[in-house]
Parts: sequence; structure tokens; C-alpha cells
Amino acid sequence: MENIKSLNKEIFVDSEEISQIVTRLAERINNDYKDKDPVFVVVLNGAFMFAADLLKQINVLSKITFIKLASYTSDKSSGTVKQLIGLNENLKGKDVVIIEDIVDTGLTMQSLRKQLLALDVNSLEIAVLMFKPHKFQCNYPIKYIGKEIEDPFIVGYGFDLDGYYRNLPAIYQVKE
Ligand code: 5GP
Repeated sequence: MENIKSLNKEIFVDSEEISQIVTRLAERINNDYKDKDPVFVVVLNGAFMFAADLLKQINVLSKITFIKLASYTSDKSSGTVKQLIGLNENLKGKDVVIIEDIVDTGLTMQSLRKQLLALDVNSLEIAVLMFKPHKFQCNYPIKYIGKEIEDPFIVGYGFDLDGYYRNLPAIYQVKE
């Protein structure tokens, strides 16, 4: 707890820049979906603040649903499997936009993408606030990217460290 309290961090993306990023993304989505009836799938917990700000600026008729990805390690495989939980919307035939906080290696999103595509959606796009292109190990398209960053570990504006700091209104880089 003391380490968490005395965390050495410095501002990385301030509230004003976040707000500009979010507005820019919302404008693109509004334009791309103006004749559609999209469903936004918000990935909890990290995307809660980004999604709230983004969706306030979405002006097309749309539905919003929330999911979580629960990690579990199966006995048979050595890898960690991300199981989608909490989806209560029928996505068959829908134009779906996933709202996520960050894509790093991309493996989490890859797993989620596969699970949503298997539901027979009409289209599937991804909106992320932060993207770490140098860490990305996958090759699916990410249509809406807020900001590309190198590899700092960030906290605030939904991003946590052991569950803390999600409430900060700006994004901070954790210093060694
Ligand atoms: P991936 O599967 O793309 O490597 O990891 C995605 C997940 O890792 C994100 O949803 C997020 O929870 C976590 N993550 C990746 N980079 C960061 C970061 O810089 N800060 C925080 N707080 N979480 C991160």
C-alpha cells in the first residue's frame, strides 16, 4: 500500500488532450455509423471512463453493452484463456464497435474479437484510447485509435495499478 501511495508518476496525457482525442474519435464514429444502428461493447473495467466520455458524444441511435474478460488457465493448455462474461445483448447481424482502454500485445483483443465474430455479427470494429504499436503481436485491424504510444506503463483515466488510480482525470506515466 505504501508503494502504491508513493508511486512516482508524471503526467503523460493531460485532460485537455484526452478530450481532443475523444472528440476526434466520436466525430469519426458518428460519421461512419450515421446510417447504421451500432452496438457498442464496452470492455470493463479499464474502458469505463473513456467509454463514458466517448459515448456522450455519439449522436447515432445505438445500444451500449458491457462485458468483462475473465482470465483462467485451463488444465489442458498452458496459456491463459480470456473468457467473455456478461454479454446480454444479441449481436447477431449487428454492427459492433468494441470500446477498449488499450491494446498492448493485442492478445486480449484478439481473443475477444474471435469470440464476438463467432456470434455472427454483421461488422466488427475496434476503438481504443491507447495503442502500443511496438508491442503489438497480432495483425487484425484497429480502426479507431486515440493515440499511439511507446511503452510506458500508464495509470489514470481508467488505467489501474492493482486496482488503484483509475479515477484520475488524466493519464500518468509510471516512473521507475
Ligand atoms: P494485451 O493483451 O493487449 O497485451 O493487454 C491488454 C491489457 O493489458 C489492457 O486491457 C490493460 O488491462 C493492460 N495494459 C496494457 N498496457 C497497460 C498500461 O500501460 N497500463 C495499464 N494500467 N494497463 C495496461
